[in-house]
Amino acid sequence: GSLVAYADAGPTNGVPSIASTANVDEKKKKVVVLGTGWAGTSFLKNIKDPSYEVQVISPRNYFAFTPLLPSVTCGTVEARSIVEPIRNLVRKKRVDIRFNEAECYKIDAENRKLYCRSNENNNLNGKKEFVVDYDYLVIAVGAQVNTFNTPGVVENCHFLKEVEDAQRIRRTVIDCFERASLPTLDEEDRKKILHFAIVGGGPTGVEFAAELHDFVNEDLVKLYPGLQEFVKITLLEAGDHILNMFDKRITTFAEEKFRRDGIDVKTGSMVIKVTDKEISTKEMKNGEISSMPYGMTVWSTGIGTRPIIKDFMTQIGQANRRALATDEWLRVEGCDNVYALGDCATINQRKVMEDISAIFSKADKDNSGTLTVKEFQEVIDDICERYPQVELYLKNKQMHNIVDLLKGSKGDVAKESIELDIEEFKSALSQVDSQMKNLPATAQVAAQQGAYLAHCFNRMEECEKYPEGPLRFRGSGRHRFRAFRYKHLGQFAPLGGEQTAAQLPGDWVSIGHSSQWLWYSVYASKQVSWRTRALVVTDWTRRFIFGRDSSR
Ligand code: FAD
Ligand code: MG
Ligand code: MG
Ligand code: MG
Ligand code: MG
Repeated sequence: GSLVAYADAGPTNGVPSIASTANVDEKKKKVVVLGTGWAGTSFLKNIKDPSYEVQVISPRNYFAFTPLLPSVTCGTVEARSIVEPIRNLVRKKRVDIRFNEAECYKIDAENRKLYCRSNENNNLNGKKEFVVDYDYLVIAVGAQVNTFNTPGVVENCHFLKEVEDAQRIRRTVIDCFERASLPTLDEEDRKKILHFAIVGGGPTGVEFAAELHDFVNEDLVKLYPGLQEFVKITLLEAGDHILNMFDKRITTFAEEKFRRDGIDVKTGSMVIKVTDKEISTKEMKNGEISSMPYGMTVWSTGIGTRPIIKDFMTQIGQANRRALATDEWLRVEGCDNVYALGDCATINQRKVMEDISAIFSKADKDNSGTLTVKEFQEVIDDICERYPQVELYLKNKQMHNIVDLLKGSKGDVAKESIELDIEEFKSALSQVDSQMKNLPATAQVAAQQGAYLAHCFNRMEECEKYPEGPLRFRGSGRHRFRAFRYKHLGQFAPLGGEQTAAQLPGDWVSIGHSSQWLWYSVYASKQVSWRTRALVVTDWTRRFIFGRDSSR
């Protein structure tokens, strides 16, 4: 008996499948994966069942290790070192995986068709477009830069999202220094050209600011003597603090370090317009508007929905949402056999309070209208599985188990004698939903979701064959797929000068040189191949010995 059964049945005995179509035995089931980023690649690395035929479609034929993109902007790491061709990654697999370099521009879930076109600049005499069928669709197209429709941003700002962006930034930084060295300029011009503005105080903006500061002060000052005094780095953030998703200690440390480094951190300052020469901001406090000239601006304020996803959401009745909503098994709500993961998707979590009567009557086995502790204990696991916020709530309240929570509403009664009616039950759990949080748009989440979904696909056949579950698990409820559960492993914020802030699980915070070494080792170990691992480590070593390369 599982709770899953009454609150929108999960894929209990095998995911809704195409097994109903007759000739399933002759034909391999076709899985199409859109995207070769963190989510898509992690799915491909983990898919093992050779009974699938997998087709991958993505405009980029490589995986890019995005956490090192800020390092590429200043040549600390070379672009080539952080990318791995997708064909390399799937070549040795037993599963039949094919790749097409193209962009999917329309998903037709009703007819299970995908409309694709090869990259813009290919001249194929009108043979650019093709249609792909699927049995299962895995959408992992990620997100795009969000400009919040601020005028002039697309035309005048650099983004830091793709490998090409990072390479372009690197060239532009050097360009600015070369231009500022020309003898024809006066001081004002030099100041203007060497003013680097960064919009967005999130992890990417902060890391880029730190990289740029190091690049200028460790390498460029030696090569462009006399220019240092004209260099200025400004970090603009609309909120009250930079790195606001991190622990307060980290935020404070970062703000102070930047101040010492001479990076101008302007919080509470929203960019409202960017022209080719000036950037205009509005102070959040008093509405004051001002402008400053710049040499280069990097826009890094968060992510928005891709047009293909927006269009698809309208088709399936999700038009008023911000990301593609899935259930806890990553199945897109409102259509069959379509899964979505990573930055383009969000898990629509279930509220305990919405299902409270169903939970109660399920637990109340003898229909007495009250719950005993024993009755409750029998469904606790299911509750925590389906409603992770319950576990989180208990953890944050430092309670050992849910019985403590229920006991609380009854005063100091002995455990065995607790009985709760529905109203008491409701009030005991009323605060629990406040713990619900959307998962962050990070590589960590995307990679875990990719691996999770691949494991579900690997087990799908087994689950169809034995609807009751394999013999050893029968009756234990283990045959069904467990809902996706994110495991947070911690987060880094490199702050420059070989110092990194790390926030590890359990609110363990560490800042300084030792975390920088932890950062090096974690990022080396997370590389998708031994090839890129070797390249990245070589780049770091080269940088230590010779400094960064400053040719454009
Ligand atoms: P992506 O990795 O963006 O992949 C999307 C894929 O879909 C790409 O291959 C793209 O080419 C393809 N695609 C796009 N449109 C289409 C289409 N129409 N049809 C087919 N394919 C398409 N996260 C962390 O956890 N730690 C970090 O340190 C960190 N640092 C970051 C630094 C930077 C500079 C950036 C930009 C991001 C960083 N992130 C980090 C976030 C992380 O990169 C994203 O959360 C992650 O990439 C999301 O994975 P995804 O697979 O959903 O999307
Ligand atoms: Mg992806
Ligand atoms: Mg990626
Ligand atoms: Mg997501
Ligand atoms: Mg009862």
